[in-house]
Amino acid sequence: MTNFAVIGPGAVGSVIALELLKAGLDVKLFGRQEQQVVVKQTKLNVTSLVVNQQKFDYIFIAIKVTKNHEITEALRKMTHHHTIIIVCQNGMGQLTDFNMAAAFQAAVYISGQKKGDVVTHFRDQTLILPDYPAMHDLKKHLSQSTIEIVISEGQRTILWYKMLVNLGINTVTALSKNTTAIMELENIQQLVRNLLHEGVQIANADGENFSEATIDEIMEIYKGYPADMGTSMYYDALNDRKLEYDFIQGQFHQIARENHIDTPVLDICCTLLTAYQYKK
Ligand code: NDP
Repeated sequence: MTNFAVIGPGAVGSVIALELLKAGLDVKLFGRQEQQVVVKQTKLNVTSLVVNQQKFDYIFIAIKVTKNHEITEALRKMTHHHTIIIVCQNGMGQLTDFNMAAAFQAAVYISGQKKGDVVTHFRDQTLILPDYPAMHDLKKHLSQSTIEIVISEGQRTILWYKMLVNLGINTVTALSKNTTAIMELENIQQLVRNLLHEGVQIANADGENFSEATIDEIMEIYKGYPADMGTSMYYDALNDRKLEYDFIQGQFHQIARENHIDTPVLDICCTLLTAYQYKK
């Protein structure tokens, strides 16, 4: 029987593991140590990654990008020649961390928060994957689960779009340590628009074709967020954890510099986010 591992018993990983389990699939959820997490009123057992001896056909990575280096050795032990790794993380460019197997980046639309051992799932359970035969196989395997697998030829554009969505809302919620309620403030809306404007120029320099309409669309998405919702970067800031800044805002910043794009708003946000990281 095809087996699945999910690494990272947090907001994203717990939802994936639970839904695969409910679909009758052979799945194990891995964390730093043996424990239990509660998600959607269900207790899930978490197995310690360190003691694992088993190999897996599919491995979902759902830890923060900042922790990828911590699981390299464990991953080498749990992969075989045909293992497929699905990177369920924000950001772009981290696939090189997973060269022990064939790795594919998902655009993750699962919104939740982990507090202590309890995961609250807010909305969505969709993974958007690139159009490769291996991803179609995975979709078939998950056909009985409520995790929606969308396969897209334009997945790179979808990843960039997700990066833009994160750029706006993650930046302002992390820096203000406040929920998406701040999008009600006109000056925050303007700041986010300006940031997205720069982000669109950067993505387009990397081959995308976004426009002002993209910005309007993303601003509409933000309007649909419940006021008490945070972002994963907001929760990290709130809990004094390392931010995934290098892989989102930092990625935009790097491409802007490579392409000589003037980004005054992004520069200030990156400076402040760097300052936040500096005290770590
Ligand atoms: P969480 O912080 O909720 O969960 C991460 C989990 O990984 C924690 O349980 C953590 O355990 C565990 N972990 C950390 N290091 C290790 C390790 N070395 N070995 C095993 N387990 C480890 O993160 P999220 O689920 O929120 O985020 C996962 C990814 O998904 C991120 O890239 C995020 O940006 C992205 N994402 C998150 C969304 C959300 O709404 N939360 C939405 C879309 C994308 P411990 O607590 O012990 O460190």
